[in-house]
Amino acid sequence: AKSEGRDTYRFFNEEMNYEATEQLSISVGLRKALEHHQFQLFYQPQLDIETGRVVGAEALIRWIHPETGMISPASFIPVAEESGLIVPIGEWVLQEACREVSQWRDAGMLDPVVAVNLSALQFARGNIEQAVNDAVMAAGISPSMLELELTESIMIHDTESVLATVRRLKQQGYQFTIDDFGTGYSSLQYLKSFAVDKLKIDQSFVRDIINNEDDAAIVRAIVQMAKGLGLKTIAEGVETAEAMAELKRYHCDEVQGYYLGRPMPAAQFIKYLREHQ
Ligand code: C2E
Ligand code: CA
Ligand code: CA
Ligand code: CA
Repeated sequence: AKSEGRDTYRFFNEEMNYEATEQLSISVGLRKALEHHQFQLFYQPQLDIETGRVVGAEALIRWIHPETGMISPASFIPVAEESGLIVPIGEWVLQEACREVSQWRDAGMLDPVVAVNLSALQFARGNIEQAVNDAVMAAGISPSMLELELTESIMIHDTESVLATVRRLKQQGYQFTIDDFGTGYSSLQYLKSFAVDKLKIDQSFVRDIINNEDDAAIVRAIVQMAKGLGLKTIAEGVETAEAMAELKRYHCDEVQGYYLGRPMPAAQFIKYLREHQ
């Protein structure tokens, strides 16, 4: 594939390496994907661990490529971030997710919430406040139905302005979760100034919770700390009944993972809701 890549993009500088060329072709593809509506959101259920009720879902983007088929976000989100395309893609995600959540009450959810992943660049370059307010307004939902997932990498940019924006959005009623909690840097330092609602315990600590004592100890510690700070916890990557039972013993609040349900298209999630309430 290496020589094929070179043939296709012969007009570029010889020094331009294959990775750069490939990234360029992905970013051209992403632009087209946006124009031609090739993105789709999948929804993965989030359950209250005590009651077993579905309390929300995380929106996860998929690229339905006309030739390649379904492409995972892990392979195109990094390119979307580098090319800046994550800003318009992220706006589309917000619009779509807000439109969808407004239908979940009819399917049985009491106070439906959709969780949307935000990239650092949406804060640095996009007008995130406007994007979020536009999406909520267009869908006619209340801000409390939208939860925004941030990773600690958001802090590599202008920390002060990120904090100020988050504070303003929280005052407007939006909810915030720190995603992949435990894998970032300075987690504890940021927790003090970063007024979020929930910590999402990274799946790398959850996956082996039954067999790995260290992982179990870390999860217990995160839950305890969150309680002390008045924050909720959600564990992601819950793959077995045993892991679920263990998390219940630790008094983790919510769970998400293949054991409860894989990410699924919107229509299937509505069915899931009808069957699980
Ligand atoms: P993430 O936000 O940490 O999302 C969780 C990922 O774990 C998802 O992968 C989900 O399908 C997967 N997962 C859920 N339950 C389990 C489980 O029980 N076991 C295992 N092994 N995996 C599980 P996915 O959908 O491929 O997304 C990958 C990443 O792409 C996400 O990680 C997120 O960082 C990014 N992403 C997805 N959608 C968006 C989006 O709309 N905007 C942005 N900026 N990033 C997104
Ligand atoms: Ca996430
Ligand atoms: Ca995560
Ligand atoms: Ca992740």
